[in-house]
Amino acid sequence: MQVDTIENALLTVTANPVLKWIIGSFDIDCPKDGNLMINSLKVFLGEKLELCERCRSLSKKIALPIYEIGSRFLKVDKGFMQKQFLQDKYGEAWFKGFALMMKGVKKYGIRIPFVPAAPFEIVWNYTYTCNLRCKHCYEDAGKRRPELSTEETKQVLDILSKLAGVGIPALSFSGGEPLFRKDFFEVAAYAKKKIPYVSIATNGTLITKDVAKQLKSIDIDYVEISLDGASPKVHDWFRGIPGAFERTMQGIKNCVEEGLDTCIATVIHKENLAEVEKIVNLADELGVRFMHFNYIPTGRAKAYVELDLTPKERLHVLHLIGNKIIDLYLKAKEEEMKYGKSNVKVDRFFSTCPQYASVTKELSQRKGQKFMVEAHYAAKKGVENVANFLGGCGAGRLYCAIEPNGDIKPCVFFPTNKQTVLGNILKDNFEDIWDNNSLLWKLRSRENLQVYEVDGKVVGCGACPDKYICGGCRARAYSYFNGDVTAPDIGCIHNEPLWERIIQSLGR
Ligand code: SF4
Ligand code: SF4
Repeated sequence: MQVDTIENALLTVTANPVLKWIIGSFDIDCPKDGNLMINSLKVFLGEKLELCERCRSLSKKIALPIYEIGSRFLKVDKGFMQKQFLQDKYGEAWFKGFALMMKGVKKYGIRIPFVPAAPFEIVWNYTYTCNLRCKHCYEDAGKRRPELSTEETKQVLDILSKLAGVGIPALSFSGGEPLFRKDFFEVAAYAKKKIPYVSIATNGTLITKDVAKQLKSIDIDYVEISLDGASPKVHDWFRGIPGAFERTMQGIKNCVEEGLDTCIATVIHKENLAEVEKIVNLADELGVRFMHFNYIPTGRAKAYVELDLTPKERLHVLHLIGNKIIDLYLKAKEEEMKYGKSNVKVDRFFSTCPQYASVTKELSQRKGQKFMVEAHYAAKKGVENVANFLGGCGAGRLYCAIEPNGDIKPCVFFPTNKQTVLGNILKDNFEDIWDNNSLLWKLRSRENLQVYEVDGKVVGCGACPDKYICGGCRARAYSYFNGDVTAPDIGCIHNEPLWERIIQSLGR
């Protein structure tokens, strides 16, 4: 048994009943001061608050010692927390995330990885419609199917903004093409009033200068634009519509001009692997972020499974972007040492492969550093204790997905069927589903990941020392192993023998 596994079991048995009781004692809503859990965190971080006598006493005797121990246990830097929670534009999102984490510990106990009382982020496939015909579309978008009305989408936002009594910190509109729906701006503006961090994932072709201005005017926090090649030939072939490349590039430039936080997102596969460096450099030149999207054979991508990268090819991509982010980290560190501060933006090169944490950990160790990208959606660097806690793949745990008709799924990359649809946001109680659904609990455990023996070698995510910081992409496991979410992610270099065996069995 791994040390982490033993630690996890011990924590669960010994610490949980006590911790649940302690957290319960200061998770209270004071009629004068509001939520004490949040207020005592503010006090812990140095904010001066005038609290009533009861709140002051509970804060001093219980909450503050707990925060002190917790931050030491997780080796979290208090200065970093002060910056994120008190000074950052997204302080409210951080406080909500924190409250959901604490309420999660109160409800489900300390677990590694942890389970918040509601997801930190929801990706909402806002529409089934789209103006492109991409080969890899997980939503198989294009065909009209019944979707929620404008009024219903606002009801969804009302529900999400109150989940677990706190509300979700972040929401991303995806699709289909979200900008293809006429009510997008009305609903996104409504979302911005309810949820602190709102982003959009789009193919970019509809982002004219005016649309970019509109995105800016409703204060969209992040725009992720898909680009599948550095040239029209590759991009348009994949996206299925001639001229898409030029329009997407223009969309990216329009967002940059408006000063929007912009990201180039690329699904990397066999046909564009040769252009990856060019796309990454393009992102670098434009000063935007880059997100490598893992190829997951689901939706229309299932018909093109042969496009999936081998574990070696995937590792090459992760090394490429991993070295970029580590170089930025080193540059920022050097500047901080020299001048006391740095303006280098480190959080710029990411991957949706959960093994990116494992890869960046190893790459930084080679340079004598302790650095890793600890969560593929959280976009933060940090230490291993926090990474274990965050736990890599966040499907059905840190994040979940909603379909255009309101159906709830653990992740957008799971196919839509009886097994994966957990309920409907307008017809069912989300919190009941979050608390009790058996598929969600399967996805949240790293102890049940499978181990295999191939030619005398032990493989599988269950045998991996990095299973707590990664866990493998559960949607890829689902795809390659007929719905088994405890199966290995065979795209990882550690599982290469399994990849070879499966590819052989598929006759490739
Ligand atoms: S074997 Fe699985 S858990 Fe380990 S790094 Fe690879 S994908 Fe992640
Ligand atoms: S299953 Fe996990 S790793 Fe895979 S795309 Fe979804 S959240 Fe990411």
